[in-house]
Amino acid sequence: MQRPAEVVAAVDRTALGALLAAEWRRDPLTGAANRRSWDEEMDRELARARRTGDPLTVALIDMDHFKTYNDTQGHAAGDVLLRDIVTAIRAELRTGDVIARWGGEEFALALPGCDLQQAQTIASRLLRVVPSGQTASIGLTQAQTQDTPRALIERADRALYTAKDGGRNQVKAFQTPPPATPPTAPGTPEFVPRQA
Ligand code: GH3
Ligand code: MG
Ligand code: MG
Repeated sequence: MQRPAEVVAAVDRTALGALLAAEWRRDPLTGAANRRSWDEEMDRELARARRTGDPLTVALIDMDHFKTYNDTQGHAAGDVLLRDIVTAIRAELRTGDVIARWGGEEFALALPGCDLQQAQTIASRLLRVVPSGQTASIGLTQAQTQDTPRALIERADRALYTAKDGGRNQVKAFQTPPPATPPTAPGTPEFVPRQA
């Protein structure tokens, strides 16, 4: 049987282990998930979407002219804004949504159970909660059956680029091209179902 001091030490080790595991997955500045955690979450969410057939939409959010904000307000104020925007975004999300710090002033969101249209509504709401009179641009894309985490982010990034290019402070969705219709060979008879 363990002595009380050994039990306390074991509990401490367990608590410390849990704390380290949580820190391992978090961005230290904002508390958002880090890239490591994002990759794991996306593998899980994509697998779940494939299994259930539920929609899954990903958003990339990038602060507009953040360099200017740093230059005029100071880097420390920039840090505060990064923390504040994560808090503001979290308040608009539901349990199970994921927010990760993708890069310096860029955040990735995973919205399970949201199709592109629903995500547009959420993203427009997010634009309205950017703190300190600043703005952000958002790119959206909905997951397809064969998607990889990387493909999703690449499409969201292309949509984000369109939002920046369109003047910033806006949401753009990646438009999936319609499937190509195979050309009908000349003289190919139309398919007519046989009568029973
Ligand atoms: P755009 O609208 O095109 O996105 O312009 P931008 O100025 O936001 O983009 P740019 O990539 O030119 O600058 C990003 C800035 O983000 C520059 C960098 O110093 C700042 N940044 C990145 N990480 C941090 C951070 O952790 N804290 C602070 N305060 N600033 C950061
Ligand atoms: Mg930016
Ligand atoms: Mg950026």
